[in-house]
Amino acid sequence: MRPALLDPLFAPITTLEGIGPKVARMIENVVPADLGGREARVGDLIFTLPHSVIDRRNRPGIALASDGAIVTLDVRVDRHQPPPRGNRSVPYRVYVHDDTGEMALTFFHAHAAYLEKLLPEGEMVIVSGRMEWFNGRPSMVHPDHIARADEAGSLPLVEPVYPLTAGLSIKVLRRAIAQSVARVPDLLEWLDPEIVRRQTFPTFTEALQRLHSPADPTDLSPESAGWRRLAYDEFLAGQVSLALVRARTRRLAGRPLTGDGSLESSIRDALPYSLTRSQEHALDEINADLAKPERMLRLLQGDVGSGKTVVALLACARAVEAGGQAAIMAPTEILARQHLATIAPLAEKAGLRVAILTGREKGRERAEVLEGLASGAVNIVVGTHALFQEPVVYKDLVLAIVDEQHRFGVHQRLAITAKGNAPDMLVMTATPIPRTLVLTAFGDMDVSRLNEKPAGRQPIKTITLPLERIDELVGRMRSAAAEGQKIYWICPLVEESEEIQLMSASDRFNSLLPVFGTSMGLVHGRMKGAEKDEAMRAFKSGETRVLIATTVIEVGVDVPDATIIVIEHAERFGLAQLHQLRGRVGRGDRPSTCVLLYKDPLGETAKRRLSVMRDTEDGFVIAEEDLKLRGEGEILGTRQSGTPGFQVARIEYHSDLLETARDDARLLLTRDPDLESERGKAVRMLLYLFGRDEAVRLLRSG
Ligand code: ADP
Ligand code: MG
Repeated sequence: MRPALLDPLFAPITTLEGIGPKVARMIENVVPADLGGREARVGDLIFTLPHSVIDRRNRPGIALASDGAIVTLDVRVDRHQPPPRGNRSVPYRVYVHDDTGEMALTFFHAHAAYLEKLLPEGEMVIVSGRMEWFNGRPSMVHPDHIARADEAGSLPLVEPVYPLTAGLSIKVLRRAIAQSVARVPDLLEWLDPEIVRRQTFPTFTEALQRLHSPADPTDLSPESAGWRRLAYDEFLAGQVSLALVRARTRRLAGRPLTGDGSLESSIRDALPYSLTRSQEHALDEINADLAKPERMLRLLQGDVGSGKTVVALLACARAVEAGGQAAIMAPTEILARQHLATIAPLAEKAGLRVAILTGREKGRERAEVLEGLASGAVNIVVGTHALFQEPVVYKDLVLAIVDEQHRFGVHQRLAITAKGNAPDMLVMTATPIPRTLVLTAFGDMDVSRLNEKPAGRQPIKTITLPLERIDELVGRMRSAAAEGQKIYWICPLVEESEEIQLMSASDRFNSLLPVFGTSMGLVHGRMKGAEKDEAMRAFKSGETRVLIATTVIEVGVDVPDATIIVIEHAERFGLAQLHQLRGRVGRGDRPSTCVLLYKDPLGETAKRRLSVMRDTEDGFVIAEEDLKLRGEGEILGTRQSGTPGFQVARIEYHSDLLETARDDARLLLTRDPDLESERGKAVRMLLYLFGRDEAVRLLRSG
């Protein structure tokens, strides 16, 4: 049970003054938490950190305030000059002066009564805003703040700027966040006093206050004590919950899985190629884990196209030889079906029965799969999250494989563990996660790496091209398609809204229709499963030669004879994503091309990203560059969130804290495995604050 003390933070944000349902939806786009469909809560807002400040400390006096500068001025109100009656296009002006000169405060569409009250003639006031000089005359249009001289204290001289989304006003967001921070209850310190001292951390509440009411722009640096404190808290919450899950999953001993190798060798015989050295090596490591009585918890890391699927299949074969069942979970339905298409023919040659289970199987079909899983008639099942949901019962699930998971959290791990006999677990990822990140995301998992590409792969040529030259490009694509090449055309990523993203995809589809006609298909996230499959199938079979797609095809889709990928507005994508997308081509034996279409002018970071893409295909190099670039300031208005999977912690700044947090978590749980001491109870609060409370349920008295 969650302590009642935390209730204010778990209330929906619509309980804040000034936030209705409509604004709440907009705010949901800026909070750093992965809401996964739930409503935003007050506690999500406290971790929405400002990315910069408006510094109003410059108080030069009217005559010395330069054009365009943000200044704060102490002035006396001289006279009001309303616009002539009936002429709304002329602004309302209020003339003010100080020792250095005179200027106008300018208001469009103003209400006279309101301004008269705000700026009484003869009074001293403080105004803050942007100076504008026009024909030698100074003015300030719509000052950001106006306060009476005796209320000077209420005017914020350093004002936080938060990430915004279309339609959301900074004032509304700022006010909502201020209210949220004020609702943080008094909490007991959960950190070890020694760490607090060594790191000179403020308290949790102080840290929030410093970040949300900065006294100086340096308060907002990820290296500030306030931010580091929160990052440490988040790491600690993560490490404690991983350690709890680990302790629990280890308690359920696995069982040794060995086989006679017969299924494995029939599958190998059916393969049209032989395994690469690193595939063989990874498989040896997996088989060794399977043979041990402890549970396997292993990460299989391999760049796109490195051939993880066949390794997974051979591991499944071993599980079946040992008398059990295996399940492979993919993040999307498309991928699940694709795995099925790869795996089923091979597995069936070895006499195995393979089934699929996603949200889409219904009625008889579904009932049959469920029955096959319960009776043991199905040996290997491929699917989506549905695999580990309530009604699914396995006869004897001994191996669970999770593919392409950046989002594989504690939650999934527990769901899988709940399906019975402490199955061995293999997580496959194409993200070339650096070692530090493996630690944050997965705790101390064992790692196997596929670091060579299957023989015969051709390098991918990467070209950057400004959007103005799109006609030229379309011409070239037309000849390529006529020669029989297959082309992916990826539509721009639109962060603000899936709606706009869809629009841009169908716009592109329509504009290319006269060129490609029926040889072009479209696939996007809002399509029904069957429609998506059909679009993918048509592309795979060659009925269509051009596939317009939103980023739904990002992970794992395998069409080996696709040789060209065009990525529109490539400057909007992150490096990791560009790399993933590019990996859709270069999977066959023909040379491939990746065209990065960008819109001028490019920012510095975008420029670097595109040139990294041109220079290398090495996923690990790209991942390292990605971390570096992300450190170098985000574009204004983008979300200021942490490293994937985190709300405030940023691995590129805070990695030194991570190992400390891990050791701290271990020590804590050795001394107090059920978090019952004073500090243990405080740590429970921490778990709730950072949404790691699934782990609390594992505690005896949780
Ligand atoms: P990923 O690691 O991205 O999931 P896949 O498992 O989808 O990669 O494999 C990509 C392609 O490489 C598939 O078409 C697969 O059949 C092929 N492949 C896998 N292993 C080898 C190999 N050892 N030699 C040649 N081709 C291979
Ligand atoms: Mg794959």
